[in-house]
Amino acid sequence: MQLIAVPDLPEIGAGDDLAELVEARIDLDPDDVVCVASTVVSKAEGRDASLSSFPAGPRAREIADRLAEIHGEEKDPRFAQVVLEESVELLMEAPFLLTETRFGHVCVNAGIDRSNTGEADLLLLPRAPSESAGRIRDGLEHRNPVVVTDTCGRPFRHGQRGVALGWAGMPASRDWRGERDREGRELGVTVENVIDELAAAANLVAGEGAGGTPVVVVRGFEFGELEGSDEHFRAVETDFVRQALRGWSYEGEVAR
Ligand code: GDP
Ligand code: MN
Ligand code: MN
Repeated sequence: MQLIAVPDLPEIGAGDDLAELVEARIDLDPDDVVCVASTVVSKAEGRDASLSSFPAGPRAREIADRLAEIHGEEKDPRFAQVVLEESVELLMEAPFLLTETRFGHVCVNAGIDRSNTGEADLLLLPRAPSESAGRIRDGLEHRNPVVVTDTCGRPFRHGQRGVALGWAGMPASRDWRGERDREGRELGVTVENVIDELAAAANLVAGEGAGGTPVVVVRGFEFGELEGSDEHFRAVETDFVRQALRGWSYEGEVAR
């Protein structure tokens, strides 16, 4: 498998056609998977925003005051306001904002970026990343599979890595249940989240800084013969860690 960063992409702005920009810079094979950083999808979709458009309500002010106290620095209540507006559920409000976005992704600060935002203060995540992936795919000559990625933290481990926010043209996961291991034992639970794995690989090549490589082509990946499924974001009913959070609240100091 090869990972190829698409070279020489310009600064992306509202209305840009990402599929066209990619095809002008690389010859895609029909089986290539095109991984696109959400940051440029958001820019192309005009999801840049200004803090001044989000006057803070009482809830946002309360959240920002508490965060300011915990972290010992000023927190802009308008930022808490935009996070709330982008979210359908608040899972944690301290020591950071963990929410579910409108499209089902759980992450810190609703995935709103304050770096690589172009001229804007903020870059909101695409409204519906799988629809974004579908539109990009429709613009590609071979209608390649497309994965929209973001860099995201995770519980239990330090650091961030790439995850898939949306996808089109391939299943989200590969179902190993019913397959056999090397001793002939049947696998009972393994459903491999392929789009997250591809997103993590692509993110490794895309980088996080000023590199200018938001689109990474995965060449030579084979999904294989296993059944696929499109389950990606867990429903609350089967997410026991998330349910456990409902009975928890932050009471400590932040270790700095
Ligand atoms: P995110 O993970 O989707 O939030 O995106 P990042 O901010 O981590 O950026 C991923 C990659 O895309 C980095 O290599 C950035 O330098 C690059 N990038 C971000 N915006 C643009 C843009 O408008 N044009 C180009 N060419 N690269 C960009
Ligand atoms: Mn991001
Ligand atoms: Mn990133």
